[in-house]
Amino acid sequence: MKSGKQRRREIKTARQRRATKAQQALAEHLPLGFSPTPPIAVNPALLASYNSYGEPLFLARGWYQDQPFRCVDCDKDEVWTAAQQRWWYEAVQGSVYAHAVRCRACRLIRRLAGRAQHAV
Ligand SMILES: [Zn+2]
Repeated sequence: MKSGKQRRREIKTARQRRATKAQQALAEHLPLGFSPTPPIAVNPALLASYNSYGEPLFLARGWYQDQPFRCVDCDKDEVWTAAQQRWWYEAVQGSVYAHAVRCRACRLIRRLAGRAQHAV
């Protein structure tokens, strides 16, 4: 029979192996030259209120992780980083169902275009 100590060590090793695998899988989908940032724990107390549509994925998972996406305007591959997600969901209480769809450049263009229209 195995001792509790041995068992705990096995569990720890398996957990580390899974974490490494998840990081590798994620890295394969990231743009070349991008270095992944470590996952950041979600603080549910700081999120905008939600309930009508169910629990968002990042909340069920418990942490933010870098999320690759393709810009809907210019098709550029970008990454919505864990830190940017935390800022959106926890600092400015953005909708928990919203996620990044435009690259940095296209967001800026849209913002400037919006301002120009309001100015006229
Ligand atoms: Zn773009």
